[in-house]
Amino acid sequence: MGDRTQLYIGGAWVEPARPERITVVNAATEQPLATVPAGSREDVDRAVAAARDAFEGWAATPVEERLACLQRLHEGLLERIDEVGRLVAQEVGMPLAAATVIQGGVPAVIIKSFIDLARDFPWEEPAGSSTIVREPVGVVAANTPWNYPLFQAACKVGAALTAGCTVILKPSEIAPLASFVLAEEVDAAGFPPGVFNLVSGFGEVVGEALVSHPGVDMVSLTGSTATGRRVSELAAQTLKRVTLELGGKSAAIVLDDADLEEAVDATVRQSFLNSGQACMAWSRLIVPRIYHDEAARIARKVAEQLVVGDPLVEGTDIGPLASAEQRERVRRFIRLGVQEGATLVTGGVEPPDGLHRGYYVRPTVFADVSNEMAIALEEIFGPVVSIIPAEDDDDAVRIANESPYGLHGAVFSNDKARAERVARRLRTGQVDVCGVGGFNVLAPFGGYKQSGRGRELGRFGLEEYLEVKALALP
Ligand code: NAD
Repeated sequence: MGDRTQLYIGGAWVEPARPERITVVNAATEQPLATVPAGSREDVDRAVAAARDAFEGWAATPVEERLACLQRLHEGLLERIDEVGRLVAQEVGMPLAAATVIQGGVPAVIIKSFIDLARDFPWEEPAGSSTIVREPVGVVAANTPWNYPLFQAACKVGAALTAGCTVILKPSEIAPLASFVLAEEVDAAGFPPGVFNLVSGFGEVVGEALVSHPGVDMVSLTGSTATGRRVSELAAQTLKRVTLELGGKSAAIVLDDADLEEAVDATVRQSFLNSGQACMAWSRLIVPRIYHDEAARIARKVAEQLVVGDPLVEGTDIGPLASAEQRERVRRFIRLGVQEGATLVTGGVEPPDGLHRGYYVRPTVFADVSNEMAIALEEIFGPVVSIIPAEDDDDAVRIANESPYGLHGAVFSNDKARAERVARRLRTGQVDVCGVGGFNVLAPFGGYKQSGRGRELGRFGLEEYLEVKALALP
């Protein structure tokens, strides 16, 4: 794919108001991959005007007609799975095979899930003497991060367009390329002009202009907790509806009757998926104190077996991080872990052998971590897992919940009922019980505490984009 010179506004590819551009970098080579427009406030004004103009008509379009457009979008995205997988593998660094399935394939599945859901959805229902009507919120600004770029766009755009909202998508400046593929497929699917708009650019410019814009009714952000705070403040000025999918520091709890080898292996692999650039990474591994050293030995073995290298080469398990800034952030945390007295079991700040170009970091395991250390408290967003000893089940639950975040988690045990009891005590939006759960596009995804507000995917994800009206009919 070459450079992108235009934005998608009002059903057409248009010239941006200003000439500034963003260079997207290949994470494995550090070389420019493509450029996209650095959008401006003028572009945002134009996109919001187009989305506002389109809103009334789209909201009034019968659901089946809206779904017919979404079905064509779904089919279009299916045709582009390999291309998207390859683009994201280069931008973000995820190995190609995984990127093709997760970054390329799952977004199409997500669009389909909303189509299926909408057919049986209670758009209207009685409540006593009233009729409850569900109506779209309005114009939605969707700000997405770089780690799963099309996946996150599909969660927002799929739900919003199904609900009858119109959308302006602002993808991450680090990984914007798949959003251009999405815009092309929206265009080909024949949505009315203005229903979907794409404005690439920086968060501080395009993101803030959207969040502050009086013509925008709702903001859906996936990003860091710091950005969530800033977006909430800006959106409060116009009392917009805000949904936030933010950071995580999820814990995998291993109970004393679990198969230790299996549990540690699963946790290390899960937490290193996409080089640890995943909000739901199980970056804390909580184990019974008596098994701590054995868990560290297993974690080391698993981490050292993983093949770090070029994401486009078959057999690579872990690619580079997405940017130099992210690599530096991860290295800073690794240094901090050592300074705070955690045991560096494997990994470290040196680049992996032979990988001096590309934003690579060694898969890193810390043991003897206490929950007060920065590496246990803060989201690192890299291939770093921290092993924390616990005295018993209660202590493990306490440690897991003693976090500003509450996005995901896992409990491993040979006793399913015991594991479920522990899972129910975790203050997080999702928990996998006794193994890695397959990703369920119908399950609500989102966080407790500072991991966010609201949910994505499935029925709960759709409802975020709807108002409810009570009609008292004669
Ligand atoms: P980020 O917060 O830097 O950026 C996210 C998006 O918001 C980008 O499009 C960015 O340009 C925009 N943005 C930045 N500043 C803004 C501002 N002031 N106003 C409006 N928009 C602004 O996040 P990132 O570094 O791209 O992604 C990593 C973060 O995303 C991690 O913290 C991760 O946990 C989180 N994340 C959460 C989930 C989830 O579902 N909970 C999923 C994936 C990633």
